Amino acid sequence: MESHEDFILKALSKQTIKHQNTPKYSTDELRAIIEKAKEELPPLFKALSQKYSFPVKRFSLTKAHSFWGICTYNNCIRLSVSVVTLPMELRRYIILHELVHTLHHNHSPRFHQKLNELLNGKEKEYIRMMKQYKTINFGSSL
Ligand SMILES: [Zn+2]
Repeated sequence: MESHEDFILKALSKQTIKHQNTPKYSTDELRAIIEKAKEELPPLFKALSQKYSFPVKRFSLTKAHSFWGICTYNNCIRLSVSVVTLPMELRRYIILHELVHTLHHNHSPRFHQKLNELLNGKEKEYIRMMKQYKTINFGSSL
């Protein structure tokens, strides 16, 4: 059986690893991220949806951290403000993923075919790149 000390040490090192993977933001930084998202994401979303004439009904930003983006059955798209922390090509990738859902409300081969076409064949590469990013947990203070 492991000693109490060992248990604590293990728990501490796990915590350290967790902190390294999840950047810690101050309240001011979180506010700045939200402001940046409000400034930069709607124009990018609008540009992409108009460029390809996707039938979007409504667009909004959210602080929810359980998803990067979501598209409802009636084509209302919500985008996490965390998307603004991604490099530009991944911001485009996330937005186009949700936009293609306005045509295919599933992850069928036709969905991926359409998305991959818009991403110049780079969908798999973007999926791999996304593994190093996480949405921000804004908590309830903001
Ligand atoms: Zn999807």
